[in-house]
Amino acid sequence: MEDKVNTGRIVKVSGPLVIADDMQGGKMFDMVYVSEDRLVGEIIELSGSRASIQVYEETGGLGIGGPVYQTGYPLSVELAPGLIESIYDGIQRPLDVLAAKAGDFLDRGVSAKPLDEEKKWKFIPVAKVGDDVVAGDILGTVQESKVVNHKIMVPPGVSGKIKKISPEGEYTVRDKIYTLEGETGEKEYDMVQRWPVRKPRPYARKLLPLTPLQTGQRVIDTFFSVTKGGTACVPGPFGSGKTVIQHQLAKWADADVIVYVGCGERGNEMTDVLNEFPELEDPRTGEPLMRRTVLIANTSNMPVAARSASIYTGITIAEYFRDMGYSVALMADSSSRWAEALREISGRLEEMPGEEGYPAYLGRSLAEFYERAGHVVNLGKEESEGQLTLVGAVSPPGGDLSDPVVQNTLRVVRVFWSLEDKLADERHFPAISWLNSYTLYTNNIKDYFVDNFGDEFVENRDHSMKLLQEESELREIVRLVGAESLPVGDRLTLEVARSLREDYLQQHAFHDVDTFCSMDKQVKLLDLILDFETVAKEAIDKGIPFDKIQTMSVREDIARAKYIHQDEIDKEYPAIKEKLRKSIDELEKELV
Ligand code: ADP
Repeated sequence: MEDKVNTGRIVKVSGPLVIADDMQGGKMFDMVYVSEDRLVGEIIELSGSRASIQVYEETGGLGIGGPVYQTGYPLSVELAPGLIESIYDGIQRPLDVLAAKAGDFLDRGVSAKPLDEEKKWKFIPVAKVGDDVVAGDILGTVQESKVVNHKIMVPPGVSGKIKKISPEGEYTVRDKIYTLEGETGEKEYDMVQRWPVRKPRPYARKLLPLTPLQTGQRVIDTFFSVTKGGTACVPGPFGSGKTVIQHQLAKWADADVIVYVGCGERGNEMTDVLNEFPELEDPRTGEPLMRRTVLIANTSNMPVAARSASIYTGITIAEYFRDMGYSVALMADSSSRWAEALREISGRLEEMPGEEGYPAYLGRSLAEFYERAGHVVNLGKEESEGQLTLVGAVSPPGGDLSDPVVQNTLRVVRVFWSLEDKLADERHFPAISWLNSYTLYTNNIKDYFVDNFGDEFVENRDHSMKLLQEESELREIVRLVGAESLPVGDRLTLEVARSLREDYLQQHAFHDVDTFCSMDKQVKLLDLILDFETVAKEAIDKGIPFDKIQTMSVREDIARAKYIHQDEIDKEYPAIKEKLRKSIDELEKELV
């Protein structure tokens, strides 16, 4: 029996929070339309027939007594061909359509369909009449963009025998393309799945994530890998290179689909994303990066509260592509803005505040979000796996890592890329601290590393990190007594660590070649730097003065190796190694 759903009545307006009475039949997280302007809102607290509603548009000027229309369903997204290349606001309204309508002075309560319902897509069926299908089974495909092939899947919770399926042809997302006979009779379906944003989309089971997401960024891939299906947090004080890193990940990470959620605080931050993203080129295909991207951006005319919706909208879209068997990476920039939205609403609800005014459930909300990451076996009879990797930027005030959002995020994510002002000031980019960052996936990816890049690379990586740590201890001593008075072994450690920092960790995002470094090249570069250490040690033992070793011209070749084009590295790498040996031999000859 259906509950009677009433039209409610506004009794109070407090910023983005509207209190309404006469809301019989309403449920938590139901979507509602507030006032004749039909502003989109969500019920976030219910007490009898009184509802607290979080409104996702400006509430200024809303009148007491105005209507609140109930929809009876939760805030949801529409999932079908047309998502890729879209730029949405937090409640999945396409920004281009909004902008066109805003030209008609409709800046509030503008409705815009999430998907183009007129556009025709070429549907190619892969299932046939008589097939028994279950949720997740693929019925057909639509080439959504040059790079993304959209799978039309049986929606979660649905199964049956195919009674009808449309032949290959051009259809809109609203055309009925298949009919299933289920337990409750026959039903026709179009391409659209509606899914409530706060509910994780189901999968068959989770797998341990064992494959690194390769990003082409040396400090990440070599030292602080995130797995496909893993979680990472990148706290970024202003100017530390947070945006550049996110762009580099979006461009270079080996993910099939990118979902970028921007909840910037200042209007211009968002404008940057909106201007820059569509300009980015996908280096693998030469196509615009948008061909495999969905962008979600809060616009300046949306209140703080809408930021929380954008996070959920983004992750639901990302899960949908995961369900198709893709590796998806979602970047949220920044989750601090989302947490501030939670804080504002919680304050208005007069909930008991936790740390720094954030609600006590901040940690739980963050955990629920990051738990939606994973490497999963999808629903459906055919074996298919998908991955959803989550990278959340956090912008703590003043870069302070004791901030509750940082702390609660670190409790749930497994990788921490610590961006530091000091490094950015020294123009060490990416400004990811090698001493404070960590990954907890080292064991997960160990086999992958050994199988694909060799034992020696794993040893080199560990040894390099040891040298960098030793350097930080030695630096203290150097400050007191100067490098000259150190034993020669320590001077070599300092020299190799400097080379690791400058020739390996530093990577120029805007250099044609250095912007991306393949794993093969990473293996070779690291080997060159450590080969210098090995050879230098032998030379020291033979009595060659350290200053001479330090100033050999081959060191320049090692420093410049990161700028060698990928096609040339196979040739150049052994040449540099050979030159290194020869240079030492010559120094040795000078000795006698
Ligand atoms: P944030 O988003 O944290 O405020 P940005 O990502 O805008 O900081 O970075 C600030 C500046 O730092 C950039 O404009 C750029 O000049 C420099 N920068 C950051 N990362 C790199 C990099 N990997 N290579 C070169 N320059 C970088």
